Amino acid sequence: MLKADTSVDVECPKRDNMEHWEVFEMNTASASAVDTFRPQLLDRRVRLLAASDAVPAAYFNELIAEIDAALGRIDNGSYGLCETCHDPIEADSLAQNPLIRFCLDHLSQAELEAHQQDLELAAQIQSKLLPLRDTTLENWDTQYRYQPVGAVGGDYCELIVLGNGESLFFAVGDVAGKGVAASLLMTHLSAILRSLLSLDLSLTDVISRANRLFCESTAPAHYATLVCGRASASGVEICNAGHCMPLLLKQDVTRRLDSTGLPLGLFSSSQYPVQHVSLDPGDSLVLYTDGITESQDPAGNQYEEDRLIRALRDHYNHTTEVAADSVLQDVARFRQTGSPSDDMTLLIVRRRH
Ligand SMILES: [Zn+2]
Repeated sequence: MLKADTSVDVECPKRDNMEHWEVFEMNTASASAVDTFRPQLLDRRVRLLAASDAVPAAYFNELIAEIDAALGRIDNGSYGLCETCHDPIEADSLAQNPLIRFCLDHLSQAELEAHQQDLELAAQIQSKLLPLRDTTLENWDTQYRYQPVGAVGGDYCELIVLGNGESLFFAVGDVAGKGVAASLLMTHLSAILRSLLSLDLSLTDVISRANRLFCESTAPAHYATLVCGRASASGVEICNAGHCMPLLLKQDVTRRLDSTGLPLGLFSSSQYPVQHVSLDPGDSLVLYTDGITESQDPAGNQYEEDRLIRALRDHYNHTTEVAADSVLQDVARFRQTGSPSDDMTLLIVRRRH
């Protein structure tokens, strides 16, 4: 159930822990990781002992031995390091399974297969969260492209027709981190926003509440940037929570909509002002993630916003479908032989002629 806004003046406590978590993400074998995992492992041990009657003896002994071995690794300083290559184990893997002893490159065949199956399932679940391709509203065309770098992504893309076709909600976001952990967080953000949107709130209320709920229900290092808006017969309102600036493409000029608030999930009291934008027939709003503008060529140069604007301007008079495809083709051309290093999302919302 959604909470009322009782926490409106309460500063999110997780801010105090940010440094701690940044250190953890840099090196999973660091002392702070040990501080994080020792209590978790001890808690598991207590719970396992309490359930000992319900678990077959051999399995119980195996689990206790695994936990004690992990506690032993914490004591001798080798916790969080792969036993094969001695590099730090991926933070995501360790967070999901504190007993893990190998990095992704050095899992056994059986572990690798289980991991692959989990990824495929996660990808299926995530693909069902993407908007329908033909989500449109009278007077508005939409077109999106969503390209995760792995099986699942941490980008967020949303299109929802609200009321009885009165308005169209659109959003693009980017969750901190990568891979499965980021995709879970993206799913969480999607659920929060969908619930709030069913309540007929103002856009600023939707985002403020989403921020508080995200603050209260996620771990310290977890936050998301988001830009979203609502298009209706009376125009478009836009709200930006720390995301790349959306672009407004008009017949003869391109504007960056530069008003922005803080990312979601950092401070529960953050304010999210809404900007009203007027679009003439043929004008488009373009929302994207930095996976596009930070794409790199082999020399390490970034694609950058300027080149994105050029690619979009070249297709002002084309359909949104052609424009979206052309941008991604241009990014791929720019990258040349390199493979993408971050998820890429592009959303075009265009007022019809
Ligand atoms: Zn390894």
